[in-house]
Amino acid sequence: MITLGIESTAHTFGIGMVTDRGKILANVKDSYSSLNAGMIPDQVAEHHQLVKGEILKQALREAKIDLTDVDYLAYSSGPGIDPCLWVGYNFAKELSEKIKKPLIAVNHCAAHLSIGKLYNQLKDPVYLYVSGVNTQIIIEKTADRKSHYVVLGETLDIGLGNMLDKLGRIMGLGFPAGPGIEELAKGGKYLELPYVVKGMDASFSGILTKAQQLYERKQATKEDLCFSVQETCFAMITEVAERALAHTGKTELVLIGGVGANQRFCEMLQIMCKERKAEFYNVPIGLAGDQGAMIAWEGFLRKGQYGDGQYDDRQYGEGGVKPHWRVDEV
Ligand code: AMP
Ligand code: MG
Repeated sequence: MITLGIESTAHTFGIGMVTDRGKILANVKDSYSSLNAGMIPDQVAEHHQLVKGEILKQALREAKIDLTDVDYLAYSSGPGIDPCLWVGYNFAKELSEKIKKPLIAVNHCAAHLSIGKLYNQLKDPVYLYVSGVNTQIIIEKTADRKSHYVVLGETLDIGLGNMLDKLGRIMGLGFPAGPGIEELAKGGKYLELPYVVKGMDASFSGILTKAQQLYERKQATKEDLCFSVQETCFAMITEVAERALAHTGKTELVLIGGVGANQRFCEMLQIMCKERKAEFYNVPIGLAGDQGAMIAWEGFLRKGQYGDGQYDDRQYGEGGVKPHWRVDEV
């Protein structure tokens, strides 16, 4: 049984295919990037429109299957950027109608968590989900045999990835800026910045403002700012993650989302986990950020939501996309 997953919530258009045992047959993507701007919604949606056909072709080639071999189609229904979400939904709907296979709406955040759990074969982790727009610490709770996600802590303003991207834009690093910031940080030294943790939540916008002021007043180098922003923000999240482990008594911490590609971030979390005898897990770079394989896997896990899983065109009602769908509403 094969599920095809389509991702289009933000900068990435991706298509992945997984089997019912979680084997990834294909995971192809193309991400919008820009030398001097961030994500302009209509431009990103246009990017997705342009690449979607080719990505599908490549994914089918990689998986060595025909479209008609696909049993389920899953797509990211939200949260995300509205025009981008529609590109994914409309494409998924078109394919589903073409091959008469059921369409499954997937929560993008839940998909990140599920692929982290699958890849590392975890039982009951604390999830640290740090992407462009999201920064959340999440656990799974089961009541009456139904499990749902509980957000223990999150950003009070912007997600850490978006904050890094904004800093990058100010410093002329292009979009996305995370990898460039990681590189520059290697040559920097520490400057004090605001450290804002409130209970289990964190706030990044004040740090961004301070870093912007220092940069524009020529009071700090790019390297020092990158290093200090990384050290401060990663330490804040590590503190909250440690508290989550302490409160819940859980012993597995898994990092997912694009910022999880950062080696220094992983190192800090690894040290913290080791000190408190917990295990730290992450995913390879290709599964850290947005991609279609995670959507396919989450779609497969949720397929029961559509009765007997048969193709039924009544499921295409209103609400094909949900731009503000939180993971704790899944
Ligand atoms: P996602 O939304 O999960 O695809 O993650 C995208 C975010 O990850 C963007 O904000 C990137 O700047 C950020 N990112 C990617 N690579 C790195 C890195 N090496 N260090 C920090 N952030 C990164
Ligand atoms: Mg994401």
